[in-house]
Amino acid sequence: MRIDISTKNESNVDGIQQFDVVIIGAGFSGCYLLHKLRGLGFKVCVIDAAPNVGGVWQWNRYPGARVDSHVPLYELSIPEIWKSWNWSQRYPSGSEVLAYFHHLDKELDLAKDMIFETKVTTAKFCDENNTWSITTDNGANLVSTYFIPAMGFAAKRVFPNWQGIEHFKGEIHHSSFWPADGVDVRDKRVAVVGTGSTGIQIIQELGPIAKEMTVFQRTPNYCLPMHQQSLTPEMQESARADYPAKFAFRLLSAGGYDANPEDVNTFDHTAAERRSFYEDKWSKGDFSFLIRSYKDLMVDPVANREAYDFWAQKVRPMLDDPEKREILAPLEPPHPFGTRRTALFTTFYEVMDQPNVNIVPVKHNPIECLTETGIVTRDGKHHDFDVIALATGFDAVTGGLKQITVEGIDGINLNEKWSNGTSTLLGLMSAGFPNMFFVYGPQGPTALSNGPACIEIQSDWIADYLVYARDQKITRIDADPESEQNFSKLLNDHTNQTLFILDDSPYVGGNIDGKIREGLNWIAGIPEYARLIGKSAANNYEGFKLSK
Ligand code: NAP
Repeated sequence: MRIDISTKNESNVDGIQQFDVVIIGAGFSGCYLLHKLRGLGFKVCVIDAAPNVGGVWQWNRYPGARVDSHVPLYELSIPEIWKSWNWSQRYPSGSEVLAYFHHLDKELDLAKDMIFETKVTTAKFCDENNTWSITTDNGANLVSTYFIPAMGFAAKRVFPNWQGIEHFKGEIHHSSFWPADGVDVRDKRVAVVGTGSTGIQIIQELGPIAKEMTVFQRTPNYCLPMHQQSLTPEMQESARADYPAKFAFRLLSAGGYDANPEDVNTFDHTAAERRSFYEDKWSKGDFSFLIRSYKDLMVDPVANREAYDFWAQKVRPMLDDPEKREILAPLEPPHPFGTRRTALFTTFYEVMDQPNVNIVPVKHNPIECLTETGIVTRDGKHHDFDVIALATGFDAVTGGLKQITVEGIDGINLNEKWSNGTSTLLGLMSAGFPNMFFVYGPQGPTALSNGPACIEIQSDWIADYLVYARDQKITRIDADPESEQNFSKLLNDHTNQTLFILDDSPYVGGNIDGKIREGLNWIAGIPEYARLIGKSAANNYEGFKLSK
């Protein structure tokens, strides 16, 4: 559905649409906020570049796209939605997630307040009126009291700038730009570049179908067993009584999930106890081995190495080919366990072991250029392909915002402000940009958390504030610069105390050349985050500057 912006709202001053809140992004954040704020009497408009609801799932239609948070963790806690929705698998496919979003839209009547196939190009704060002036790529202008860019953390793709990429005569697609009708890879030679969670899913899906597949791996993924399971409506009906408790527990778990690390350190256990501890987590599947592990896993390198060694012992026997074994699960860990996004596998190692699947390590022998017929690596070797799948990821967390010109007080530009480092107050606002809130964005729990949990907690905070401001006739909220500095320092101190900072992962800006290495996500867990934002709200929004 596409709604004409000119018919969107009755408040139309000089052809400019007026709103209380303009949100970018019709994913979980946009849908939840629209529903919540509209219910509180605010006039809300959601703008999205995609043709429909679903956020990142509108774009990530690559083969094998799947959620790796199990039912019912990756959904909103709105009762009329979860009570009326059934999934067919414990880890739903991307297309089923899109169907869920259509259900959300239908039940909550969301699309009537959404504008699709439209990109916001600029957002400028007007000091006199305390409003945001928002312009889109199709020439529309909107004015809004509040502005919420909620594009998620994967809104800017990484397209490698290989020389000759335009000369390749076969098909080349980024995972988040995969053709809607799919790509027929039968009898084709396929390259997959990248082994993040996306690459792993593409490989599992296309490896058994393609004539030949070559995986270009820069860094191995320490994949964990998914344990997929079919679900019937009856199974979910009987489980539904526990859903409120499960949704409540998401906010008590560090990652917004269903578990926390055990209250024991790795070497508190004997070797035998440790072995049985790890076996227990491994046998449960899911992220158990990572998130239900010892509490020192992510801070103590020796403890972390112990976990890695167990992982390698589990995975290496799955690979018969000795060369592939060394590349996919080396005895020496290339980075600590868990410092980059772990994927859940179903058949990944089995597929990688197939004779039609090859692997080219590109850490020290990178892809140099593309030709009409394929890929050339630094060693001069030419690899011929019909199809190239780029699973090369995203300029995570801050990348989406960089695509929009955001101007705050005195024309200060957000990108310029952050050119020496990202800074926010509580992952909710950045000083100098009044009435602009982030959801699932920079310095929130974001990429280190389960999306719906992070989104609900931040959106509820914003909704409470908007009601408070309306009641108190407050027209402007901004972050206090000193409080912002303190929070950003706290976040980076937390990050630096973990092993995350040792790795070049997207969590810390490490996957993009020239990007500052810093904590882009709140790393100290959702409960502590909830405590901090709740404390601020309870103390009349301590740390923020409010004015009438
Ligand atoms: P990613 O985690 O950033 O992985 C990108 C991969 O591409 C990495 O293996 C990277 O290697 C490689 N790469 C990048 N540039 C390269 C180059 N020039 N040559 C060779 N390799 C290159 O991206 P992603 O897999 O798309 O995942 C992004 C996020 O989406 C994840 O963090 C996850 O949260 C989300 N996701 C979720 C699901 C789900 O199940 N819900 C599924 C897929 C994705 P390096 O590691 O060496 O940089």
